[in-house]
Amino acid sequence: MNNYFEIIKNAYFGYANYLWSEISNPSWHNYFYWLIGVSLFFFVLEAVRPWNKSQKLFRKDFWLDVFYMFFNFFLFSLIIYNAASDVVVNFFYDLLASIGINNLVAFEVMSWPTWAHLLVGFLVRDFVQWNTHRLLHTVPALWEFHKVHHSVEEMGFAAHLRYHWMETIVYRSIEYIPLALIGIGLRDFFIIHIFTLAVGHFNHSNIKVGLGPLKYIFNNPQMHIWHHAMEIPKDRPYGVNYGITLSLWDYLFKTDYIPYEGKGIRLGFKGIKTFPKSFVSQILYGFGKKNQN
Ligand SMILES: [Zn+2]
Ligand SMILES: [Zn+2]
Repeated sequence: MNNYFEIIKNAYFGYANYLWSEISNPSWHNYFYWLIGVSLFFFVLEAVRPWNKSQKLFRKDFWLDVFYMFFNFFLFSLIIYNAASDVVVNFFYDLLASIGINNLVAFEVMSWPTWAHLLVGFLVRDFVQWNTHRLLHTVPALWEFHKVHHSVEEMGFAAHLRYHWMETIVYRSIEYIPLALIGIGLRDFFIIHIFTLAVGHFNHSNIKVGLGPLKYIFNNPQMHIWHHAMEIPKDRPYGVNYGITLSLWDYLFKTDYIPYEGKGIRLGFKGIKTFPKSFVSQILYGFGKKNQN
């Protein structure tokens, strides 16, 4: 018993120390400062060249979303910290060994050049996330959690990180094994994550950048706004444009949908009027819900 108490106590002290060193040491390897820098970048772009000029810079729920950004950052760090901790890693490997799997790395990509394993890691992760995002829409119990993200009524970069904390658990758990299978380490994960953070902020921001043919590869605000649209096509009741960083998967699997320029379309979902508005009621939302819209 004492032992477990020690482990838990050390884990929390370890996390607190880790977080404090992240925050007190600005550097290129520091997710906290990347989050602030990338956010400021898109904030300035929204201020200087907004796509929808009738929307205020400090739009509806701007501060709620900023709060979510930091809340989800701390939660994300906790999960990553624990996933990288010896306790979890050893437990995971013991578990696999107990069913006879001794070497999880199926394809050793770490011996490839850096750019190649970053690219493979990114593609695998984005495809896994695209599928996970579809699950959030098609599995009724998961959709209840995902509604928090879809309760955004005016788009802006900070809306990217408005999501229920259960999403962090779902995404990280599902992507853990595929990334371990190809031997992606924490450093690669970090670089990939910063890149996807920037594209995720871009997708939600109130700006327009002409991507040309690259729009068939990268997600963008003009595509992602239709993912948040109140009206979804009748023949695709679960939604459209599930892309996270890449729009490519939507074009490949025919889940793409941009009927016209979506500037100023109504966002949300049926029943948004009665959806909880405060942070606390939203993070407690979704447990034990019956299937409803
Ligand atoms: Zn969604
Ligand atoms: Zn979104």
